[in-house]
Amino acid sequence: CGITACVGSEDVSDTVLQSLENLEYRGYDSAGLALANGSGIEVSKSEGEVATLKGSARTNRLRGDVGIGHTRWSTHGPPSDDNAHPHTDCSGTVAVVHNGIIENHDQLRAELTERGHEFTSDTDTEVVPHLIEERLDDGERPEAAFRHAVGRLDGSYALAMVVDGEKHVYATRDGSPLVLGVGDGQNYLASDAPAFIEFTDQVVYLEDGDIVVVDRDGYRIADSEGREIDRPVETIDWAA
Ligand code: GLU
Repeated sequence: CGITACVGSEDVSDTVLQSLENLEYRGYDSAGLALANGSGIEVSKSEGEVATLKGSARTNRLRGDVGIGHTRWSTHGPPSDDNAHPHTDCSGTVAVVHNGIIENHDQLRAELTERGHEFTSDTDTEVVPHLIEERLDDGERPEAAFRHAVGRLDGSYALAMVVDGEKHVYATRDGSPLVLGVGDGQNYLASDAPAFIEFTDQVVYLEDGDIVVVDRDGYRIADSEGREIDRPVETIDWAA
């Protein structure tokens, strides 16, 4: 399973799909992507191969300069189109991809259902976009909404989010891998560095609890309180 993300200044759909192909070796049963293009979030996802996803993303001309991608290894709910990631909130403002397990998802889902949220999948993941939606509806900025929602989660996760109208990807990890790829006018995130092999050799290995906000020109890493953290940029020798 794997997560990918890319933020650039032009359409990143092919880059996100290429990165997903680069992570196929990790194993998966479903694949999907979400693209934000300033006028909504477009999602394509299905049970099956990245090649199938690529076909439908191209047929439907999905485009956007901010994107997240996912290959799923099911833990909660069988492989299906509905259970494939990304998952969105009620209004389609937020899309999230997740690797790992959210242990307290039952309790969170019950809480959210009580407050009127409707769910469309069997996954543990789907509580996350709904938790973020509530924070956004309360007037929080996306980074704070993401941080506060993540603060409610028990379990292991790598998570990445896009928000309608925002040119950023928001991501975090705790117990699942997440690496930042630093490019020139384009930046990346993935579960493993080979996802970026065609695009950059500059990487930052994120640590548990890090929250990263990435745009096309740069990134900022903070802790769970929002305090900035410095992490080294390393160069990978792909030929080695
Ligand atoms: N627990 C999530 C699910 O079943 C994520 C699985 C994964 O790591 O791909 O959808």
